[in-house]
Amino acid sequence: MSQPPLQPATPTPARPPLMSLDDALARLMQAVRPFDAAQALQVSTFDALGRVLAAEVRSAVDVPPADNSAMDGYAMRCADVPVAGTTLPVSQRIPAGVVGTPLVPGTAARIFTGAQVPLGADAVVMQEQCSAVGEGAVRIDTVPQHGQAIRRRGEDVHAGSVVLPAGTRLSPQALGLAASAGAATLAVARRPRVALFSTGDELVMPGEVTPDQMTPGAIYNSNRYTLRAMIQALGCECTDLGIVPDRLDATREALRHAAQQHDLIVTSGGVSVGEEDHIKPAVEAEGRLDLWQMSMKPGKPLAFGVVRRRADSPEQAQAYFIGLPGNPVSSFVTFFLVVRPVLLHLQGVIDWRVRPTPMRADFDWPRADKRREFLRVRRNATGGLDLFPSQGSGVLTSAVWGDGVVDNPAGQTIRAGDTVHYLPFSELLS
Ligand code: AMP
Ligand code: MG
Repeated sequence: MSQPPLQPATPTPARPPLMSLDDALARLMQAVRPFDAAQALQVSTFDALGRVLAAEVRSAVDVPPADNSAMDGYAMRCADVPVAGTTLPVSQRIPAGVVGTPLVPGTAARIFTGAQVPLGADAVVMQEQCSAVGEGAVRIDTVPQHGQAIRRRGEDVHAGSVVLPAGTRLSPQALGLAASAGAATLAVARRPRVALFSTGDELVMPGEVTPDQMTPGAIYNSNRYTLRAMIQALGCECTDLGIVPDRLDATREALRHAAQQHDLIVTSGGVSVGEEDHIKPAVEAEGRLDLWQMSMKPGKPLAFGVVRRRADSPEQAQAYFIGLPGNPVSSFVTFFLVVRPVLLHLQGVIDWRVRPTPMRADFDWPRADKRREFLRVRRNATGGLDLFPSQGSGVLTSAVWGDGVVDNPAGQTIRAGDTVHYLPFSELLS
């Protein structure tokens, strides 16, 4: 006779569907609507670093605006210097910013870098290849070639052409190019506003709880620091809502609050489907949620959805929601693989992918995984990659020791000498 079970069996929660990272990204890009043009703002070109252009920049001018000298030297007609050693009288002096007169045939003009080449001159000879001869003459010690040392009008930019397309993330050199085209201000997307909170009753804050006050089971909250800094490094505004207790009501309350003023809510932890994981029911109660098991390692569970701002919120009045796994390396990796693209997409960036660099593996990875893996590695002095020995999803040291990840396809082993796909943190975190 069989004994009845002491406790009623708890139903096993339904497993979310397994999805590839690429499918997840494609779905996100479809679900997340970029800010519309009405939300663009005009900022000083000085203050636009890291922002995303909401409109293309066209040049108002030719750059350079006229043919000018690439050297300090002498401007002349090639026809006047048929052989090296020809001496010409110096008819004028043209420093940068001064426009000379048309060149008198049979003479040379003293000219300086950036000065407009006088009409009639077709070459500049650098001063190192010329010798002053008494007062007011110069010997040209070389035979000039047509066009030599002359930077042509418009050789960098033609007036009217697009120098920076909409969707460009503004680098220091892009700001310089915009300025050279005459743009004192730029139309940019507003900065995404991101709310961040960590879930987990085990979490305590360094500074609030000293190491000797730590109770058994407690750990320091590291994701709060990592994720907040990654949000800020992408030029987004981050509202840090701290730690939310592992309770449904508290999680719902935090979500409702976060949805009000933010475009995106990012959380860490609580996205598995255990009894202590309240993210799923909380987002379902406050909005809509898809829970995905991504076929990648680290970082399997990921939650995506929307949270309503009011009970009757239309589509536009919702905040997006991304729940990252709690393990520190998992949340770090899923942030740059999934959240970064969303934050760039919101601002209108089209090309948010980081292109992998083929590099030589200087390590063996003998056990293939059925999931796509992101291995923490570091470039070595011989142009290869070394592997951090411990690839556990809780080993944050790997992400500090490393300078990037190898994107290793599912089912793939690696032998030393193989070419692998390397993604540097320097690009993934900016
Ligand atoms: P969870 O996703 O909530 O099941 O958490 C998975 C693992 O990550 C657990 O070992 C947690 O203790 C750990 N964890 C969750 N949140 C954080 C955090 N903010 N900082 C450091 N570790 C965390
Ligand atoms: Mg947890």
